[in-house]
Amino acid sequence: MEILPAEDHFLRSFVKRGGYLRSGAHIGRDIYGCRGLIQVKRETAGLFLVLGELEWQKRQSNPSVVRLLERVEEFNMDKVIQEFESLTKDAERVQRETLKRILEDNASAEYLQSLGLNGRTDPHSFKSCVPLVTHKELEPYIYRIIDGDASPILTGKTITTMSLSSGTTQGKPKYVPWNDELFETTMQIYQTSFAFRNREFPIKNAKALSFIYGSKQLKTKGGLAARTATSNVFRSAGYKCAMRALQSQCCSPDEVIFGPDFFQSLYCHLLCGLIFREEVQFVSSTFAHSIVHAFRTFEQVWEELCNDIREGVLTSNVTVPSIRMAMSKLLKPNPELANVIHKKCMGLSNWYGLIPELFPNAKYIYGIMTGSMEPYLKKLSHYAGELPLLTADYGSSEGWIAANVNPRLPPEKATYAVLPHIGYFEFIPLSQLESINGEPDFLSSDPQPVGLTEVKVGEEYEIVMTNPAGLYRYRLGDVVKVMGFHNSTPELKFIRRSSLLLNINIDKNTEKDLQLAVEAAAKLLAEERLEVVDFSSHVDLSKEPGHYVIFWETSGEASEELLHECSNCLDKSFVDAGYTSSRKVNCIGALELRVVKRGTFQKILDHYLGLGTAVSQYKTPRCVGPTNTKVLQILSENVVKSFISTAFN
Ligand code: AMP
Repeated sequence: MEILPAEDHFLRSFVKRGGYLRSGAHIGRDIYGCRGLIQVKRETAGLFLVLGELEWQKRQSNPSVVRLLERVEEFNMDKVIQEFESLTKDAERVQRETLKRILEDNASAEYLQSLGLNGRTDPHSFKSCVPLVTHKELEPYIYRIIDGDASPILTGKTITTMSLSSGTTQGKPKYVPWNDELFETTMQIYQTSFAFRNREFPIKNAKALSFIYGSKQLKTKGGLAARTATSNVFRSAGYKCAMRALQSQCCSPDEVIFGPDFFQSLYCHLLCGLIFREEVQFVSSTFAHSIVHAFRTFEQVWEELCNDIREGVLTSNVTVPSIRMAMSKLLKPNPELANVIHKKCMGLSNWYGLIPELFPNAKYIYGIMTGSMEPYLKKLSHYAGELPLLTADYGSSEGWIAANVNPRLPPEKATYAVLPHIGYFEFIPLSQLESINGEPDFLSSDPQPVGLTEVKVGEEYEIVMTNPAGLYRYRLGDVVKVMGFHNSTPELKFIRRSSLLLNINIDKNTEKDLQLAVEAAAKLLAEERLEVVDFSSHVDLSKEPGHYVIFWETSGEASEELLHECSNCLDKSFVDAGYTSSRKVNCIGALELRVVKRGTFQKILDHYLGLGTAVSQYKTPRCVGPTNTKVLQILSENVVKSFISTAFN
């Protein structure tokens, strides 16, 4: 078998890895422009669809490709599960091979060359030559790429696209390289989790109501495209085809997904969902926050939506011409449907069970629901009624890590099984970081990570990733806990971002600690049937002693007495010994709860959208540092009341 499709990276790397295309197909030079023929094995998986459509678009509707594609078989669930089982049975070997492949493919990269690997690809040499890095250390290389230096800097092949991470931790988006291989790993993750999900919750001929949004596309100084990683995925040529194979096609047209105005896109997603309500078999988004946000919006606009459906005319509030044009093809006067929806909404009590009422054939809700998404779960369950909540996979703009292969577990218990062939993974034991100077000090120590199959159940680790797009031994900044193993690959629980959030004195509180404190105080609010819509925090050092500030947006007006009680509860709920002891001796001042106007967190979201973040990847900043002046300004300008805790008086 000779495979020399000159510029065809996908096909080459895919087949090289023993990838399977479609049954007995011979794809000749006239199709792929390769010398000789590719004899394809008698096995099939959805990935061929990806290749097929991509090539098809490249080669401009060659009739033989069209015919070939029409005969493509369906996604083979059992095959994907089998393959995952076999890869995870020998995860250590697969890791070694993955590292070898990454290092060979990128052997000419200046970064690797300078580290003296000299062609060695074994884990030992890799670890001894290549340092652990964070984004900061790679920035000089990344900025050269962004500025248009096309030489092999971090990867063998030139990087032409960048991903923008949401940047909510640092306050500004970060650039990370994107390439075809990352798209490929995305599809591998999607296929794996879909296979396991579909075994437990089968869907057929489905449409998905997916609240997904393309981000603005920026051009860097050197002419590279830069958008969020999710937008890079949605815009990849093979994406739609792959989603069709996974029965996960979004029911909204592209004009809605990539529309320039978030609210108009959201409105039309809802409208499309209602138009196709019988066919919608699941409701999804990348991060669960977008689903909650969408149905909160639905509560405000449902009558307008019904009106549009009744008349067959889109509201004049949607003004983007391309969206109006696309929606006009779907929207026909349908008074009957409008009445059904109207009646259903009127019959609900406080919108409980809204999603299954609107979408009678929905089998589940799907999106990332762990980590910083946990605060939205309560509201999501409320809208979902009896429908199961299935958390999606675990990854980042830098690359994917693990898939949810136990979809029956509720989000609170969810774990993610690492795919050993999509990257090379190392784990820094948190205990090791702690033993260096008593507390986890994530950046100043010289940790010794362990390999994927060397991790221990019950231990917490910081993840280090080597990906096929130029990141080598990259500290992702996430803390995970090993809950068990799937064959020989670990099943991880996402714990938190590694950086400390709140720290004034000897206190140390993380995102998780903040979340628990807010959860405890929100229980008091629930007594007045109110909820915390969203929250953030800040360390106020403007006066001595410094103190914690918690910003809250609530669903309605709570009594002053209750809010004061909430501020006490928040103060008492930070149980870290450093905090409580500092509070007792007044080295840290009384916690302040600042209640902000309704819509304040929407303004923060809008601000991040302006910076290039897409809603699909948005995570509310849980702590606003002093340098994040714009967000701090939005919060401060919208404070309506503030309450000082008396819990330690
Ligand atoms: P971004 O690169 O902006 O998309 O953000 C990636 C980050 O989102 C990761 O580093 C995690 O902190 C978080 N994240 C991604 N997937 C999950 C998940 N399944 N559970 C919890 N947090 C996640």
